[in-house]
Amino acid sequence: MKTTTAILTGLLALAACQSPKENEKTTMETKEIVKDVFPKGTELKDNPNFSGKAWLQTMVVPADSFGCTVGNVTFAPGCRNNWHSHKGGQLLLCTSGKGYYQEKGKPIRQLNPGDVVKIAPDVVHWHGAAPDSEFTHIAIGTQLDKGGVTWLEPVTDEEYNSYGK
Ligand code: MN
Repeated sequence: MKTTTAILTGLLALAACQSPKENEKTTMETKEIVKDVFPKGTELKDNPNFSGKAWLQTMVVPADSFGCTVGNVTFAPGCRNNWHSHKGGQLLLCTSGKGYYQEKGKPIRQLNPGDVVKIAPDVVHWHGAAPDSEFTHIAIGTQLDKGGVTWLEPVTDEEYNSYGK
């Protein structure tokens, strides 16, 4: 009888240990579902401000008169935009894949689904995909009345490969 109780207790302990793993799995599945909520849009062709393949689905334009723009941007693995800044700032809502974000003079920050990046006006930065993953974020251009984007030089391979170094 005592042995049976010990085995049962052991099984219950095992079950308890497995619960968090099950929860993690559910969370991951939820993140996968988020991936296709918004359309991928059309490929940006011959855009000098992107280092490779990228797609844009425009959702809110200046003519809508909300004082902001909203777009769904997808970067192919390794693709990033040039260094740039936004006169009125920008918000990035990360929805799928693994991305990179860097402000001038700071280390690269990895981005994951659910991350929110708040970019203050005139802060020089770039964003894009990690080398081994596509990456999608919703980009919100804020305070449009202050002005638009100022594009600068491309991100060098040395800068891009500095993640974690
Ligand atoms: Mn930006």
